[in-house]
Amino acid sequence: MIFRCWLHTIAMYLIALAISTPLWAEQPLKVVASFSILGDMIQQVGGNRIEVTTLVGADADGHVYQPTPADARSVARAELLVVNGLGFEGWIERLIQASGYNGTVITATDGIKLRKMQEADTDPHAWQSLANARIYIRNIVHGLSLADQAGASVYKANAARYLDRLDAVEAEVISTIASIPAHRRKVVTMHDAFGYFETAYGLVFLAPVGLSTESEASAADVASLIRQIHKEQIPAVFIENISDPRLLQQINRETGARIGGVLYSDALSSRDGPASTYLDMFLYNTHTLTKALK
Ligand SMILES: [Zn+2]
Repeated sequence: MIFRCWLHTIAMYLIALAISTPLWAEQPLKVVASFSILGDMIQQVGGNRIEVTTLVGADADGHVYQPTPADARSVARAELLVVNGLGFEGWIERLIQASGYNGTVITATDGIKLRKMQEADTDPHAWQSLANARIYIRNIVHGLSLADQAGASVYKANAARYLDRLDAVEAEVISTIASIPAHRRKVVTMHDAFGYFETAYGLVFLAPVGLSTESEASAADVASLIRQIHKEQIPAVFIENISDPRLLQQINRETGARIGGVLYSDALSSRDGPASTYLDMFLYNTHTLTKALK
C-alpha cells in the first residue's frame, strides 16, 4: 500500500512536470545567423519559438566583415549557429573560437550543387537561386529541430508554408525574365554575385570584381569590361547595395550603358527598404533587372 502511494506521488509529480514544461519551453531558442538573408529565412521557419541575432546586418558586406565584441557575446550565448559556408564568412572560425561557442553549427549550403567555375574558386552566393533556397530551408529545419526537438513539427509546418510562397515567387521570376528579349539579357554588376541567378534564370552577368569584394578591379580588368560593354552593346550596369557605386558610375560615364538601379546581392535592405526579406529581395532584383532591360 505504501509502495502504491509512493508510485502515485511520483506519477503526480511527473504529470505536474509535464504540465509545467511548456512554460519553461516558452523561452525562445537563441539562434545566431551569420548574415541578413539567412537571418530572415531562419525567422520565417522559427516563428515565435526562436530569437534570431544576425551578425552582418542590412546593406552590409559579409565578405569583408569585421566581427565586434558584441558579436562574440551573441555567439557565446547562442543555442544554434547557422552560417552560409562555401567560404563566404572567412571570419567565422576565428569568431567561434573567440566566443568559446561549442554548440551546433549548421551550414545552410550543405547539399547544394556547386556552380561550375573555371578556376578552383567556390562561388558562395548560392542564395541567388530559389531552388537552392529550398535546400537552405531544409537545413534550417534540421538545425532548429536538433536544437529544439519539441518544436520540430512547428518548424516543419512553417517551412511548408514558406516553400509555398517561394514556389509562387519562383514562377513570377521565371515569367518576368521571359519577357526580356534574348539579345538584351546581359548586365554588369560590381562583383560576381549572380552566377547562380545566371544559371537558374538565363541572364548573363559580368563584373569587374570577382567572387569576393575583398579583391579590387585592376585598371586592365575595367578597360576590358568597358570594351566588352561597347562590343556587345550591354544595355545596363547595376549598383549593389553592399558596395561603393563609384566604379560603376565611371563605367556608366565611359560606356553610356545606363545605370539600371540597385541590386541586392549579399544583404537585405533595412526594414523600411524594398528588399527586407529574402523573397522580397528576389522579386525586387528581378523587377529591377527586367525594367532596365526590356
Ligand atoms: Zn558577394
